[in-house]
Amino acid sequence: LVSRKWKVDRTHLDLGDGVIIGDGTLSIMAGPCSIENESQVQQTIDHLVSQGVRIMRGGVFKPRSSPYAFRGLGVEGLKMWHTLARKAGMKIISEVMQVSQIAEMHDYVDVFQVGARNTQNFNLLDELGRVDKAVMIKRGISGTIEELLYSAEYVFAAGNEKLLLCERGIRTYERASRNTLDINAIPILKEKTHLPVIADPSHGIGIREYVEPVALAAVMAGADGVIYETHQKPEEAASDGQQTLDFKESERLIRKLRKVYELR
Ligand code: PEP
Ligand code: MN
Repeated sequence: LVSRKWKVDRTHLDLGDGVIIGDGTLSIMAGPCSIENESQVQQTIDHLVSQGVRIMRGGVFKPRSSPYAFRGLGVEGLKMWHTLARKAGMKIISEVMQVSQIAEMHDYVDVFQVGARNTQNFNLLDELGRVDKAVMIKRGISGTIEELLYSAEYVFAAGNEKLLLCERGIRTYERASRNTLDINAIPILKEKTHLPVIADPSHGIGIREYVEPVALAAVMAGADGVIYETHQKPEEAASDGQQTLDFKESERLIRKLRKVYELR
């Protein structure tokens, strides 16, 4: 069902209020790794609105490698974020980690993100197939392209066609970067499926200084959109500060992304 053999026309994902992904315009989703507090959320919204970005990312349930690390504000943080985002006309994408969170989060997100650690959580995918909300599935940490497509197939087969795929870097033998963003996956996915393909250069390389070139390369390779991390003070971010752009860097990236997209 996710194959272009099944559906030749590309999927346009309409989030409402004129926010459409995969319609031949570049989609930009940006925001902090974790939602931390009201002031951070408002500063991020102000930054994104000033740049014409309509979709904000942020985690409230964080999958952390260590159980002692900050694990997110939970649904209360999501509600606060939702109130502020709606005032600014912004859409929300946030990670859902388990089935019980779907109902809790449902009214406060526009796109459910399935994280790299949950790409093959088939029960979660089944349940997301039953909701009337968009879902973005990230590629597994050591997942193949085929496995990502099968994960999307789970959601689609259960009845939800509002799907996005995300290349977020895979684990290879290379340790000079956090992950290896698989540029190859972008044209391959675009050929194999009708679903929009989003690139995550932040997790894809994991090093702030290199997020920009990797993001630009992903767009040149055919990505429909980019999702990246930005924070007013990356050094003080509760998670993933080392790969997070400050607002000046974010502004520059947005400017370049739009230029590069036009060259395609
Ligand atoms: C995130 O988007 O902050 C995140 C945890 O991503 P991933 O699942 O790709 O590691
Ligand atoms: Mn992160």
